[in-house]
Amino acid sequence: MPTALLFRDDAYLTETTATVEAVNERGGIILDRTVLYATGGGQPGDAGTLRRADGSMISIGTAIYDPEDKSRVIHVPLEGQASPQPGETVTVLLDWDRRLKRMRIHTALHLLSVVLSYPVTGGAIGDGDGRLDFDIPEGGLDKAEIAEKLNALVARNADVTESWITDAELDANPGLVKTMSVKPPRGSGRVRLVAIGDIDLQPCGGTHVRNTAEIGLVAVTDIEKKGKQNRRVRIALV
Ligand SMILES: [Zn+2]
Repeated sequence: MPTALLFRDDAYLTETTATVEAVNERGGIILDRTVLYATGGGQPGDAGTLRRADGSMISIGTAIYDPEDKSRVIHVPLEGQASPQPGETVTVLLDWDRRLKRMRIHTALHLLSVVLSYPVTGGAIGDGDGRLDFDIPEGGLDKAEIAEKLNALVARNADVTESWITDAELDANPGLVKTMSVKPPRGSGRVRLVAIGDIDLQPCGGTHVRNTAEIGLVAVTDIEKKGKQNRRVRIALV
């Protein structure tokens, strides 16, 4: 059974009850549903806790897609945790503080791709910071100038909304796919589009804040040259 990805429909959902479907040979726990984002698109998997019926807790370090069946999410427990039984009902609790920082940075990176409208070749999201790699033919990027433009977009208090279109509709609009190495999830027949007001529209399977106001002030902390045509731009929450 595929794991129901509740974070995809509501990134603000911090807990759910779930049923243990299986525990793999390495102790990874597969549930029928989850609020923990699974590693993908440059964003790390969420940490959290499984609360069992007797009140005891299982600490989860991260969530990943099962390499043997990508429709299932494996909850990877920290070392020395108890193992639940298949069929058991648990409550999944998200480490919300960490997730919210990642949502703020993730949404800010969408805006950064608007400020620097060059092809994106990679990206990563951390806890309160993140980066995008751009294919930029010329140098001369100015940290302060980029930060000013980025914060001006944040200050527009734009709503972030999500909608789904079919693969066929996306293929008919190839300009929507802005990123080169961070591809949107494909193959399920539909793709999720994320719009930030009238500022940005792109396919993305990640977690975002509901309004750019929630991002807060952002700093451009570093611009690094990664090869002849590549610039790595790092940002951080202030
Ligand atoms: Zn996104």
